[in-house]
Amino acid sequence: MFDCHIHSGLNPASKRQFLEKLQESGMKGGIVMSAVPPSFGEGDPKTLKSSMRLNSLMNFVKGEKNLFPFYWIDPLENDALKQVDAAVGAGVMGFKIICNNFYIREKKPLAVVKAIAQKSKPILFHSGILWDNGDSARFNRPAEFEALINVPGLRFALAHISWPWTDECIALFGKFLASGRDIDMYIDTTPGTPPIYREEALKRLFGVGYDVEKKVLFGSDCSTVNYNVKWVKDWVKRDKKILTKQGISKSSLGFIFGDNLLRFVGLRNDAVNRKQLSPGI
Ligand SMILES: [Zn+2]
Repeated sequence: MFDCHIHSGLNPASKRQFLEKLQESGMKGGIVMSAVPPSFGEGDPKTLKSSMRLNSLMNFVKGEKNLFPFYWIDPLENDALKQVDAAVGAGVMGFKIICNNFYIREKKPLAVVKAIAQKSKPILFHSGILWDNGDSARFNRPAEFEALINVPGLRFALAHISWPWTDECIALFGKFLASGRDIDMYIDTTPGTPPIYREEALKRLFGVGYDVEKKVLFGSDCSTVNYNVKWVKDWVKRDKKILTKQGISKSSLGFIFGDNLLRFVGLRNDAVNRKQLSPGI
């Protein structure tokens, strides 16, 4: 299994300890995101400089082929386009974006998204309510990401099934599927959804009739500093139980908990023939 949603800070804890905990949770590896950009106000902006965040991330994943580095970029920073080049040059496999104070459709963020798509790198977006102590929900509603329809070649995921707007997230997935455009949307099921909503959300996601099985990712939202083995195991168990109850096959579970992430980060490019959607059929 792979975990598509692991945060890191500038001073990640012992790598050995993190790898042990991953293994104990049944995870082979996953996406490790860089430290938070300064605009979140969660630390000294000087120590959160882009080069420091990038170096710290790349040092942490060095020599670990199953840790996939994603650079967290703030597209409003003046040198954001340069940061895209620097990150790709350093070997990142993708980017993380959280729209904390902007809509993705605005000129600056969209230019950054286009630059990333041109480099054929995926973007993991936060979506859904955001625990940032700020006034940010409207930027993270899934329908706002409809603007990505104008970025051909983009591969992206919306995290947390956009909870509490899970229906809107599923609808957006259908929209992209029906569009026939060369845009590859994934859904990251990282909680997000509190357990009481989980079964309903997964039931709708997998029962809607859209071709989702090769487009759903499992993630934990844990950090490298304190990878929470019990939390991860509990979510895996809960999700597998719900999905099995819905008749999701063992091989599909293999995609959802592992193979889909390898495709998302670009390590596999097996073609996915998606069942198109068209009204009236
Ligand atoms: Zn997160």
